[in-house]
Amino acid sequence: MKKLRNLTLATTLFASIFASPAYAAAPTKPEKGKLSVYFLDVGQGDATYIKTPNGDDILIDGGNNKYGDTVVDDLKKLGVDDIEIMISTHPDADHVGGMDTILSAFKVEAVYAPKVSHTTQTFKDFLTAVKNEKLTIKEAKAGVTLPLKGITATFVGPTKEYAKSDLNDWSAVLRVVNGKNSFLFTGDAEQKSEADMISSKATLKSDVLKVGHHGSDTSSSTAFIKAVAPKYAVISVGAKNSYGHPTATTLNTLKTANATVYRTDKSGTITFVSDGTKITVKTEK
Ligand SMILES: [Zn+2]
Repeated sequence: MKKLRNLTLATTLFASIFASPAYAAAPTKPEKGKLSVYFLDVGQGDATYIKTPNGDDILIDGGNNKYGDTVVDDLKKLGVDDIEIMISTHPDADHVGGMDTILSAFKVEAVYAPKVSHTTQTFKDFLTAVKNEKLTIKEAKAGVTLPLKGITATFVGPTKEYAKSDLNDWSAVLRVVNGKNSFLFTGDAEQKSEADMISSKATLKSDVLKVGHHGSDTSSSTAFIKAVAPKYAVISVGAKNSYGHPTATTLNTLKTANATVYRTDKSGTITFVSDGTKITVKTEK
């Protein structure tokens, strides 16, 4: 009996010392009839996978070049066999880099991107991969609605054309509504685009916000965060990145707005599940 008690004590002690799991838990598979949103941990970059209640698969961005295989593995583990809609928010490498690998790994039905080009090899690789899939790119811009059943998914940005040097402001911004729950995915849209979205009078208010540009203070103006009024804010960011993302300013703006902040550098992949009425959150670590 004493031995057993000691063993129990030892187990309790062990569990208390290893406060966080020794191995990261794999994200749970999407639940049928619900909307699942996975902010995949791709270091300094973005990759978001959405499973709609109707069973359609959406991917927004694919991380940088070296994360293409990681995203493919993650999607396979989550049961993805084809991708109905792929969205490239803008041509920067930390968003579009992994897309060519993903395009060659899965059957992709449709690709959406803003009508802006880039001269990098990474962006050319993406265009070549789209061409190899015998697809053309559909324009992502404010007012375009994705042909999906069971949810409403509409682009609220970009609302206009920007200078080629302002690639971030070209970011395709998607708002997804499932019953009473809403999500806003902003890519790297900065304050100029945020102001234009506010002026456009489109509904921006959302329960969950993918914070623009990895928490940089060139995005997330006080006015924009006020307009979105998120309950949850997700920052997709690499640990110890050289950009200083997220900035104290952005974290303060979100705190003042009473948003609960999740970061992929701290929590790994972050999963939101919406049943149309309530939202639950799970983190990998
Ligand atoms: Zn970025």
